[in-house]
Amino acid sequence: MAGQVNNVDVILDVDPSKVPSCPHGPTLLFARYGDKGKNTKRFFACSACRDRKECNFYQLEDEKVSSVRLEARKVINKKGQPPFSHAKCVQRLKAFWDCPVVNRLMCQTCGILLLPTEQKVHINKSHDLVKSVSDELLQNPTKLFRPQGKDKVFAQYLFSKSSITFMMDTLKEQNVTHVLCIGTPSIHEAIQNATNLNLQSLLMDLDHRYMQVYSTEKYCYYNMFNHHFFNPASEMAFKQFLTPAGPPKKFAVIVDPPFGGMIDVIAHSLKKIIQTWKEIAQNKKNSILPIFMFQSYFMEKNILESLPTFSMLDYKVTYLNHPVFNAAKSKTGSPVRIFTNVKPHLIHMPSSDDFWFCKICNRFSSSENKHCNKCNQCTSKSGHTYIHCNQCKKCVKPNRSHCPVCKTCELPDHRCGFEKTETTCHICGETGHKRKQCPLTMTNIDNRKRPSSNGDENKPKKKKKTKS
Ligand code: SAH
Ligand code: ZN
Ligand code: ZN
Ligand code: ZN
Ligand code: ZN
Repeated sequence: MAGQVNNVDVILDVDPSKVPSCPHGPTLLFARYGDKGKNTKRFFACSACRDRKECNFYQLEDEKVSSVRLEARKVINKKGQPPFSHAKCVQRLKAFWDCPVVNRLMCQTCGILLLPTEQKVHINKSHDLVKSVSDELLQNPTKLFRPQGKDKVFAQYLFSKSSITFMMDTLKEQNVTHVLCIGTPSIHEAIQNATNLNLQSLLMDLDHRYMQVYSTEKYCYYNMFNHHFFNPASEMAFKQFLTPAGPPKKFAVIVDPPFGGMIDVIAHSLKKIIQTWKEIAQNKKNSILPIFMFQSYFMEKNILESLPTFSMLDYKVTYLNHPVFNAAKSKTGSPVRIFTNVKPHLIHMPSSDDFWFCKICNRFSSSENKHCNKCNQCTSKSGHTYIHCNQCKKCVKPNRSHCPVCKTCELPDHRCGFEKTETTCHICGETGHKRKQCPLTMTNIDNRKRPSSNGDENKPKKKKKTKS
């Protein structure tokens, strides 16, 4: 349910004893506002799933839940847990390593590394199997496990090699020694496989397939939307990771939330992490915990509201398996940026990309991002060079021009004179389209058969009777 929806707010800081749990840990309390603020409904729903099909937990705030339902819930919650405990997974991994490569099978359908005696069942059911799992694949689990991309829960999109390299260089530049990788298995993997770096990492992710390849000190089964550790060992590993021993450590957090995740909810979890870090690991007063969060530039306003000390870097983050966030696909490149509380002038951009240092802004700006003397800022965000509008008194995207009727800068084909009905997309935060049409989701890309501005759009549509 954690998504950016116009008329729905999350209420944070609810008394934990009053919060029911779904298989994804404690639920979140939402308030849905009716027309003109009337008929507000407050209800608990799943923190991790934006799709009711994935987790349909729903309970009105003041609802009395029968004991029968409570029992049923217990069963559902138990069923929703991984097939093996983390400790068991560690044992199984040892056995898996001991198998000759030709006997190592991994089932993509079930997401499990199969031991020899278990293979037959999966073969008979014609599951999707990876044969002869090599040592190298075991050490590169992001290549082994099929990304759960279409899945609304995980929205697993992996960084390109160049974006991983950029993050690794940035960590080095910041003298970081310990990294919390929240929802960033590729960074964790790169750190684990780097032999010549003084760098440690802990993966915190909802995808429990990683339990099978990382020990309890390397992976926490964790939900970033409610800061929930699914087992006590994970929470201990998290605290242990932060506990100082030996030479001074410098920590950092790298987080790549699934698209559409509510920023204020993630910010709330980050604040809890900062709190724990302060309690057990902060070694200098006034030092900050560097955080790098990946999000599209559309979300800048939302992010700065929740995390006012953050700023957006111009670096464009690219992904391997995402059709839009792939650099080569469009002239303006990926819309994903890094938001960080590290001072932007301290982060050097790769020399291979065209960046320049803006002395006035004291930051690296991309080549298309020109400093605007009127705004006193480097104003381009989208990958286009923005143009200053004297009437609007701000820089705007180059495809807009000032409309004297609307008194704002608009697209040439805008519905002139009509008050804007603000449809805000719940996935990307951009106005003008709804979640179902969002270009950022894989499903829409796959289903997109014609450009949206085509005449077909205007044909009367058959009304659907099904409620969503
Ligand atoms: N670009 C990253 C992957 C980002 S995809 C990389 O290459 O490493 C989002 C990641 O967040 C996935 O690994 C997914 O499993 C994880 N995730 C999704 N929902 C989550 C949640 N509620 N809590 C923690 N991790 C979550
Ligand atoms: Zn759930
Ligand atoms: Zn500037
Ligand atoms: Zn300007
Ligand atoms: Zn204008």
